[in-house]
Amino acid sequence: MPMTSPLAPARCPVLVVKVGSALLVAPDGTVRRDWLASLVADIAARIADGQRIVIVSSGAIALGARRLGLPKGGRASLEDAQAAAATGQIALSQCWAELLGGHAITAAQMLVTLDDLEDRRRFLNASATLRRLIALDVVPVINENDSVATEEIRFGDNDRLAARIAQAAGAGGVLLLSDIDGLFTANPKNNPDAKLVENVARIDARIRAMADGGSASGMGSGGMLSKLEAARIATSAGAHLAIANGTHDHPLARLANGGRCTVFIAGKQGKGRKLWLAGRMTARGRIFVDAGAAAALAKGSSLLAAGATAIEGRFARGDVVEVVTASGETIARGLAEYDSTDAGRITGLRSDAIADVLGHAPRSALVHRDQMVLL
Ligand code: GLU
Repeated sequence: MPMTSPLAPARCPVLVVKVGSALLVAPDGTVRRDWLASLVADIAARIADGQRIVIVSSGAIALGARRLGLPKGGRASLEDAQAAAATGQIALSQCWAELLGGHAITAAQMLVTLDDLEDRRRFLNASATLRRLIALDVVPVINENDSVATEEIRFGDNDRLAARIAQAAGAGGVLLLSDIDGLFTANPKNNPDAKLVENVARIDARIRAMADGGSASGMGSGGMLSKLEAARIATSAGAHLAIANGTHDHPLARLANGGRCTVFIAGKQGKGRKLWLAGRMTARGRIFVDAGAAAALAKGSSLLAAGATAIEGRFARGDVVEVVTASGETIARGLAEYDSTDAGRITGLRSDAIADVLGHAPRSALVHRDQMVLL
């Protein structure tokens, strides 16, 4: 990725760099300090070039597990993982603070849970903190708050966390440093003809199929599917997302000097509320639609009950729901105008028939266009 790339300092004022556990922590559970020092030197160089950097760093569980002598890398039970995270996180942030401090850069730690970014008010709060830190020329070092996040409310992987953080920070780009060069047309481990996909303008079924093959082979901790989901969140928030190999020293300099990577190109940026909606990960239900409704949505219409074919899940009015085609493709996400019971009762009905069923005047749509984002 040459210096003219969309993530270069001149074109991307704020960049989120995600560093995975496998890069940060050696198999014996110690920090790969020399490698980390080379990454921090690259980060300092970018900051000198005028780019603001936000770091999303994994590694707390792996580091803590070693210090506590826990089996299975600290992942034998949720309690172990949480204790390991609490122990490892303090060492992790100390490491980042020391190395960044060596370049006269101040680090700040933020630990967030999924709920902090899914709840609109808390999202805005986290966003304000991030933006203030960036304006103060401080480098935020972020991780999931694993010591309190239970399985149900976890991101689980820092790929999607990084994409959500980019959205909250108003970043123009996300770089996922991984142990592979990017997305391949097929699993490169057992397919010599597999080619690196350099640019992805749209994440469609073809691209998803490539990632499916990849994750089955066990690439990376988050796997390629979680990276694709991160790419979807980032690009729909107007940020480019790149996956690149970070295993060598000076990974950012290598990339700037033409290193291979996959870049997912950002979509057109919408309004704040819609962006937040597009990035939300926890939908409460799904509304299946016919082809006519799918076409109408693509042209900017609201989703009417007449175009719905089935309702899945239990949701209240105002909850996030996904709009899904007959072939199973999720095409939009929005806030439900009806709860799931009423939505089920009026599925497939034209507006004039709805009042009779509900016994009161209907709302104009199942999901209103102003409360919906196309994916
Ligand atoms: N938050 C986890 C940790 O710090 C890592 C999550 C991931 O592997 O992406 O250990």
